[in-house]
Amino acid sequence: MSRFWIEDVPRYLNQEISLFGWVNSRRDHGQIIFIDLRDRTGVVQLVFSPEVKEVYDLAQKLRAEWVIEITGKVTQRPQGMENPKLSTGQIEIEVTNLKILSEAKTLPFDISSDGKELSEDLRLKYRYLDLRRERMRKNLIHRFKVIKFIRDYLAERGFVEVETPFLTKSTPEGARDYLVPARLEPGKFYALPQSPQQYKQLLMVAGLEKYFQIARCFRDEDTRGDRQPEFTQLDLEMDFPQQEDILSLIEGMMKEMVETLYPEKKIQTFPFPRLPYQEVMAKYQSDKPDLRLNKDNPQELAFAFVVDFPLFEWKEQEQRFDAVHHPFTRPKFEPGETLSEVIARIKKDPAQPTAQQYDLVLNGFEIGGGSLRIQEPALLEAIFEIMGHTKEAINQKFGHLLEAFSYGAPPHGGIALGLDRILMLLENEPSIREVIAFPKTGDGKDLMMNAPSEVDEKQLKELHLKSFA
Ligand code: ASP
Repeated sequence: MSRFWIEDVPRYLNQEISLFGWVNSRRDHGQIIFIDLRDRTGVVQLVFSPEVKEVYDLAQKLRAEWVIEITGKVTQRPQGMENPKLSTGQIEIEVTNLKILSEAKTLPFDISSDGKELSEDLRLKYRYLDLRRERMRKNLIHRFKVIKFIRDYLAERGFVEVETPFLTKSTPEGARDYLVPARLEPGKFYALPQSPQQYKQLLMVAGLEKYFQIARCFRDEDTRGDRQPEFTQLDLEMDFPQQEDILSLIEGMMKEMVETLYPEKKIQTFPFPRLPYQEVMAKYQSDKPDLRLNKDNPQELAFAFVVDFPLFEWKEQEQRFDAVHHPFTRPKFEPGETLSEVIARIKKDPAQPTAQQYDLVLNGFEIGGGSLRIQEPALLEAIFEIMGHTKEAINQKFGHLLEAFSYGAPPHGGIALGLDRILMLLENEPSIREVIAFPKTGDGKDLMMNAPSEVDEKQLKELHLKSFA
């Protein structure tokens, strides 16, 4: 039997069809039972009349959120009974067959509202019910559409999606790593990737030329507002790029995506302004300024690229220079400058050089960042030295990359966009948790699965770990 979706039902007027779904609500009107049946695509009115006795008697039992299967005839609603608020409001289904597939306890909360009135902890504990509400279902479906748009857009332009490992070695991106003990090598650990940064650069060495990935990233950060321990990036890298190639690719993609999927939104300025970091800081005291002219209008999108970041920043606490973006970021070369001249200049005054780095900002949020990269082993080594790494540590941590760059590495560069944040802004949501199917709380808990959780002594033993409980 083919499956019908509720949104398609009006097309089958006067025909007999079968539907599956949830009891959204029930109203008894005199002798007649009205059930609003819900599936992913909408709601339709079912009519049970006492004439079909067996079915009617069974329908008496129906309660909200029971799962049922019905067969019935699609009919025009009697005049005056239409519901203009429903896309199926002109019709109803006279049910001739009913099967109860699953009963439901009373839900812990109302799912007909937008849910904003509820405690978030309760929503997260019963996320599978919270996702039944229309707003959340819409967010998930729109998320899928945005990702599909990006995949198609990049595929058409010669990009290839490649999956990179989750079990890997730590990448220095400024946050703490999540570590995974290696059972087969006592005392050793994998790290979950903070981003696929090194892998994507190695794919450029491999000659893949244009890479992207809808990539999960893991960062063990202290509780900080709207952060998630794992989040999703559109990660991208290409070889032989000028900075402008990357910026114009991204702005073109964002523009077409907004026009296709969010036609009600208005991009304030196109092409997106390219604003030098120093100017932005002087003018707005922030590197992610909110450039909207009318901040009351939720349909306004003020994108901009912030460019020309400094290469290093001084870390007072650690008394050392650190990369503003990450150590693989390429400094700007002066016209005619040779590699050894650049290295000498940077070493002499690390606070001075400008990076070929850019951020994408939207309405006061940083939604992406990237850079052109260093592909010369000597320059990369110099950067690590300035950051305070010994030669030994450099070799141990980054030897693989330095070696890879010695086998014919093309100039390359890329960017990563924070998909959760982009979706949050496009959906006018107050938090990224509203656009992630199963998010964690601000302090990293999964309240539904109850994670993190203790594990068996036996598991710890196998991993050569001791319990501190
Ligand atoms: N990996 C970087 C990040 O996550 C982005 C990039 O440089 O492409 O911020």
